[in-house]
Amino acid sequence: MRKPIIAGNWKMYKTMDEAVSFMDALAGKLKDSDASETVICPPAPYLATLVEKSKGLPIQIGAQTMHENAEGAFTGEVSPAMLQSIGAKYVILGHSERRQYYNETDEAVNRKVKAAFEYNLTPIVCVGETLEQREANETSAIVSDQVKKAFAEIDEANAAKAVVAYEPIWAIGTGRTATAEDANEVCAKIRSVLTDLYSGPVAQSIRIQYGGSVKPANIEELLSMSDIDGALVGGASLDPESFAALAEAG
Ligand code: PGA
Repeated sequence: MRKPIIAGNWKMYKTMDEAVSFMDALAGKLKDSDASETVICPPAPYLATLVEKSKGLPIQIGAQTMHENAEGAFTGEVSPAMLQSIGAKYVILGHSERRQYYNETDEAVNRKVKAAFEYNLTPIVCVGETLEQREANETSAIVSDQVKKAFAEIDEANAAKAVVAYEPIWAIGTGRTATAEDANEVCAKIRSVLTDLYSGPVAQSIRIQYGGSVKPANIEELLSMSDIDGALVGGASLDPESFAALAEAG
């Protein structure tokens, strides 16, 4: 009932030539299927080019972050209006690297989620606990709080379109994946928080991805879980072979 969504987060990797070669290599490998959705989130300088390259392919393009305002004197920033104007469809918001290195707070993430909907962008809202928080048994409380704050004042119609990515920080880029059971338990918790905020059918329709060292070898097991509806993939999204394998699994 929920369409799986596999999204690649390239972070600050690849030159323009490499980005274009990736798209060319991927083109022949992806099957156009209604069964799942595929998204690539390249660095900002390549967004418009990749939107053009993605035309006719079963792939959407998203940004890795954005400013909350439509325009203004914010040197170096990219706005939701700009992303909409070039044809981007998704935007990753509140990634743990943004929270950690750029001081993005839950409140800022919430303002960005609102801005995304205003400009017809689908937010991929990232939440997740640190290793210390997991070891202190705080995962459920931390993640629930992040979800509630990110969705504050978001109405049902918009919430239904959102994607949530559960990314335990200790699993990102470490090769250490959460077990499928542990990941599913937190994703189910996120869905129960969404059920408290919205109606049952809306909470049931929101897609929840797992992220953190996802690769072709573990995707099937993760996707077989009841509350995991896709993956947000860093390292393994950089290679067209492995990203195609992940997209096929979805
Ligand atoms: P990873 O990154 O797949 O390299 O662990 C995931 C992410 O940061 O979204």
